[in-house]
Amino acid sequence: MLRSTLLKLAESKGFAHWVTSNPTTRGMARRFVAGETLDEAVQAARACNNAGMAVSLDCLGENVSTSADAQKVRDTYLQIYDRIAQEDLNANVSCKLTQLGLEISAEFCEGLVLSIAERAAARDNFLRIDMESSIYTQRTVELVKRVRAQTPAVGAVIQSYLYRSESDIHDLLSYGCRIRLCKGAYKEPDEVAYPKKSEVDANYVHLMRLLLSSGFYHAMATHDPLMIAATIRWAAEKRISKDDFEFQMLYGVRTDLQRQLVKDGYRVRIYVPFGTEWFPYFMRRLAERPANLAFFLRNFFRS
Ligand SMILES: Cc1cc2nc3c(=O)[nH]c(=O)nc-3n(C[C@H](O)[C@H](O)[C@H](O)COP(=O)(O)OP(=O)(O)OC[C@H]3O[C@@H](n4cnc5c(N)ncnc54)[C@H](O)[C@@H]3O)c2cc1C
Repeated sequence: MLRSTLLKLAESKGFAHWVTSNPTTRGMARRFVAGETLDEAVQAARACNNAGMAVSLDCLGENVSTSADAQKVRDTYLQIYDRIAQEDLNANVSCKLTQLGLEISAEFCEGLVLSIAERAAARDNFLRIDMESSIYTQRTVELVKRVRAQTPAVGAVIQSYLYRSESDIHDLLSYGCRIRLCKGAYKEPDEVAYPKKSEVDANYVHLMRLLLSSGFYHAMATHDPLMIAATIRWAAEKRISKDDFEFQMLYGVRTDLQRQLVKDGYRVRIYVPFGTEWFPYFMRRLAERPANLAFFLRNFFRS
């Protein structure tokens, strides 16, 4: 109920304005968002690298409505690869298709994604296409496959809460696609997604096993100790090396677990979001955990 309300509020322009212009809420968002500029993101990425973790940089934004804005986003991503190389960071990039004009036209969006993936390839780097709500899943899978057919520097994300995910995994694997597996962060109807957490978790374990046994390098994106333990157990049982997959976690979430995994010799990548368009991302993080909302309300009313 609370999760649904927060995810609904994430779509409200009025609430967005209120949250993003309030100094207290802006300060709170900094727990999950590295800053509003690329300089701040580079600083956060450097700190992760120094702690033994790789990074995926995400310039926040979604649902861009003009082609000029989508092209500006493309230019920003091209610059990010150049900056990663200049700074010698261990980092790749994540982006969302609705930020690159998916709603304007799939062909237009594909052209922008291809140019970013080609820059990634030229820099010996990688582009991860985040997965958004289920109304975009089919278009995202199709677009990633088309770009993947032209360059190996692009990968996808699959959400274990969707019924369709196993079939999407088989489809993407037939293109040699690297996949990030997460549970899924959007409000979805029961017709497309498992309504119960236990079902989402069971599917996560099932899909993790499928991915780890596929022979490609994939990423397990979760902060859930049970999902992490299941991954570690499966890898050990199947003699899959610690270097053949990575764990991924979000900036500011379960830093204790991030450090522990590094200490235990696992590869860890931190998703580092930055930029001025942080409101929907921040709302999804609040929705994931009631304690985050309590923290938000406590600080807000104290201010
Ligand atoms: C690297 C990365 C990339 C992602 N990319 C996508 C994507 O492209 N598309 C998409 O839909 N979703 C994405 N997600 C979000 C994901 O789908 C989940 O919403 C989110 O990770 C919470 O699920 P969980 O696996 O951590 O398990 P949960 O069962 O939600 O949480 C397990 C435990 O993790 C901790 N935790 C989880 N979330 C938080 C939080 N916000 N604050 C504090 N503690 C928390 C708590 O201790 C909680 O008990 C991504 C997540 C990660 C880590």
